[in-house]
Amino acid sequence: MSAVRIGLDIGGTKVHGIAADVDRPDEALAQVRTPTVVGPAGVVATALEVVERLIDALPRGTELVAVGAGIPGAVDDDGVLSNAVNLAITEPLDLRGALARALAVPATVNNDVNAAARGAATWLRSRGEAEDVALLSVGTGLAAGFVLDGRMRRGAYGLVGEIGHLAVVADGPRCSCGQHGCLELYASGRGLARQWPYDGPGPQPVAVFDAADAGDQQAVAVRDTFLHWLAEAIRILTLSVDPARIVLTGGVMRLGSRVVDPLFAQLGCDASASAFAASMRLRERTLALPTDYPAAALGAAELTAPPAPRTPEGDPAWRS
Ligand SMILES: [Zn+2]
Repeated sequence: MSAVRIGLDIGGTKVHGIAADVDRPDEALAQVRTPTVVGPAGVVATALEVVERLIDALPRGTELVAVGAGIPGAVDDDGVLSNAVNLAITEPLDLRGALARALAVPATVNNDVNAAARGAATWLRSRGEAEDVALLSVGTGLAAGFVLDGRMRRGAYGLVGEIGHLAVVADGPRCSCGQHGCLELYASGRGLARQWPYDGPGPQPVAVFDAADAGDQQAVAVRDTFLHWLAEAIRILTLSVDPARIVLTGGVMRLGSRVVDPLFAQLGCDASASAFAASMRLRERTLALPTDYPAAALGAAELTAPPAPRTPEGDPAWRS
């Protein structure tokens, strides 16, 4: 009889659940996606429905060991979620308690970017690399998560990786956080939409990149500003924690090579500026996560497991 952990990536539009064997955390045995019903009761009900459908999809007798969720919003050490505006959750919600009571198994809840960072570390491990990564999520907003030396960095006050709110342009526009000229106003989906309003069919980032390719000078400026500040975000992460890898993910990264190619060209070009710039190895350390890799769901599942020991004997084989 096999045993599984279930991971849930709870987003504003859908909940993506995966079941992973306890011994193979990088591989989804079953996957379910369903639209999110927002609001506290709706989010709990959608999460439980996804768990139920995953259990139904697994062989009879499979043991459910634990359930983990990754969710956009601030999550405290007790698994209480607050300020999840996209999910219409404005009052603190004891999501961990709700899942654990309903399913009668241990549950954990983490911020979705932190969960995705754990998933990215697992992906790197499956490639034979060290679990030492800053995940940069370029979605509606811009935020990072860290797994350093194999351990997820939770932060002391819930602000870990919130680099989207670095105020980088002194006289920039006002951000939703109350500051002016935040990085996220330029290097994110929201930033692209702010500078290039678009209500046509298809995703906005595709529209602005298409317009830039067609020679629209304003779109070229918006695209190039986006790429400039995205490169700056990579530099900030590099100089802050010097991770072995910076892994890019998020909705805007679905543009794939249209972002990656010019970004990598810029990172390579930056390296020619000085010996110090070259020593940052920005181009060499940066990777895009495959767009179909369920990092947040796999990471949420793996975060239900106790952390690996840090003794030298306990260090995984990839350290050698
Ligand atoms: Zn801000």
